[in-house]
Amino acid sequence: MPYTSFDEIEQIHTELHNTFKTKLTLPLAFRQHQALQLARMLKENHTRIADAIWQDLGKPAFEVYLSEINPTMERCVLTAQRLPEWTQVENRENIITKPHQKQWKPRVYKAPKGVGVVIAPWNYPMALSFQPLLGAIAAGCCCVLKLSEVSSHFAEAVADLLPKYLDQRAYRVVLGGVPEVTRVLELKWNHIFYIGNSTVARIISAAATRHLTPVTLELGGKSPVIIDPDFGDIELAAKRIFWGKTSNSGQICVSPDYVLVPTKTKTGHRRPELMEELVKAFKKAYQESFPEGSPALQSESYAHIINEYHYKRVERLLEETKGTVVTGGGKDPKTFKMEPTILTGVTPEDALMQGENFGPVLPLLKIDTVDDAIDFIGSRNHPLVLYVFSDDEEVKTRIREGTTSGALIFNDTFIQLDVNEMPFGGVGESGHGSQVLQYTFEEFSYERSCLTIPKEIEPAFKPRYPPYSQEAFDL
Ligand code: NAD
Repeated sequence: MPYTSFDEIEQIHTELHNTFKTKLTLPLAFRQHQALQLARMLKENHTRIADAIWQDLGKPAFEVYLSEINPTMERCVLTAQRLPEWTQVENRENIITKPHQKQWKPRVYKAPKGVGVVIAPWNYPMALSFQPLLGAIAAGCCCVLKLSEVSSHFAEAVADLLPKYLDQRAYRVVLGGVPEVTRVLELKWNHIFYIGNSTVARIISAAATRHLTPVTLELGGKSPVIIDPDFGDIELAAKRIFWGKTSNSGQICVSPDYVLVPTKTKTGHRRPELMEELVKAFKKAYQESFPEGSPALQSESYAHIINEYHYKRVERLLEETKGTVVTGGGKDPKTFKMEPTILTGVTPEDALMQGENFGPVLPLLKIDTVDDAIDFIGSRNHPLVLYVFSDDEEVKTRIREGTTSGALIFNDTFIQLDVNEMPFGGVGESGHGSQVLQYTFEEFSYERSCLTIPKEIEPAFKPRYPPYSQEAFDL
C-alpha cells in the first residue's frame, strides 16, 4: 500500500484550505449529498469492505455489519435528514433580559471550523473513521482522513473507493504511519479529531497546541464492571459481560476490562459464594458461545487479535499476571487467536490491572463492598465507561454520584454504541469531546455570535465615551 508522500500531504493541505475559502462545502444541499454519497459507497461496496475488515481482524461478517456497516449507513442518512435542524440559526431574543438588546438581532450560528483532520485507529476501522468524517461533512468543513496503517486492507479499500464517491476538492485520504501523521501535525488545521490510545493523544495534543488547534480526543477505557451482590440474575450479568468482552476479541474501547465483585450485600450479609457463582456463569456463557466442536480458536464467530505485536502484548500481560485462569487460556500464535480468558485471584498490582488490556482477557477481583468498589474506581484514571449490574436504585445513585466516567451503563455492556442520540466520549484520561451524529457535528462547528447594533441608538451610548460623567454610573 503506497503511503502518501510529504509533498502530497502539503498539497492536500493547501488545496483543502483553498476549497474551504470558495464556500463549496457550505450549502446544506452539498453536505447532505456528500453524506448520502458515503452511504451509497457503503451500499455498493459492502462486501469488499467487510472482506477487507475480515482480512485485517478476522472480524466475523455479522459483527462488521452489526457494528460498522449498518450503523454507519444509518448515520449517513440520519445526518442528511437532521442537518437542517442542527444548523438552525438560534434567535436569542426571547431569553435576552435587557429589553433594549432585543432589537440587536441576537443570533447564534453553527459555523464550520474550517479544515479538519481525522486520525483514526484500527479496531473499528470503518465506524471510527467515517463517523468523524461524517461530522466534518455535516458541519461544512473540508476534511483529511488519516486511516490507520495497522488495518491496511481497509485503508487500501477506502483510499480507492472514497474518491469515487466524495468530492475530492473537499475530502481526502492520507495513508501512512507515524512519519506521515507527524508531517500532517506540523501543518496548521482548524480541528483535529483523534481516536486512539492516550500515549499518542499526548503527542497529538502537544502538536495541536503549537497552532492552538482544538482537538477531540476519543481514547481508551479500562472500563470496569461492578456487580452488585444483591443483583438478581448473576447468569444474565455474566452472559452480557461475556458478549461485550468477546466481540472483536475484546479490541473495543468500551470493552469490559475487569470485574469488581463486592461480596457483602446491602444488609451486611456476606456472600463468599458469589465469586464461584460468577465463575460458573462465565463458564456457561463460554460453552454456549463456543460449544464443543466449535472452540473459540476455530470459530468463525470470533475475531483474532489484530497482529503479532498486539498478540504478544496481551500474551505478556497474561504471563506477568498472577491469578488462576478459569475459562479459556488457549491461543494460537499462527492465527493470533486467543480464547476468551477469565481469571480470578488477580490483584490491583498485577500487570493486567495497569493499562487497558484491549484483548479477550477479563480479570475478576474480589472486593468487600460496593463502596470499596467506588473508592477503587476513584483511585484510578477516569474510565471511558462504567458498567454496573444492579436492581437497586439507591445503589445506582450512590455509584453515579460517587464515580466519574465517560458513560455509565446499567445491566448490559457495549450496547450503548447502538444509541444514536446519546453523546459518546471520555473524561480525563479517557478523552474529551464527544461523538455520534449531532455531537460529532458540534465538534467540527463553533457557535458564532452575531449582533446587529442599530445606528439610531447612538444617543443612548453617549455616556460610554470619555470623558466619563456621573451619567455613566446612573445607567
Ligand atoms: P493505532 O495504532 O491505529 O493509532 C491510531 C492512529 O494514531 C493511527 O492513525 C496511527 O497512525 C496514529 N499514530 C500512532 N502512533 C503515532 C505517533 N507516535 N504519532 C502520531 N500518530 C500516531 O490505534 P491504537 O492507538 O492502537 O488504537 C487503540 C486505542 O484506541 C485503544 O486504547 C482504544 O481504547 C482506543 N479507542 C478509543 C475509542 C473511543 O472512541 N474512545 C475508539 C476506539 C479505540
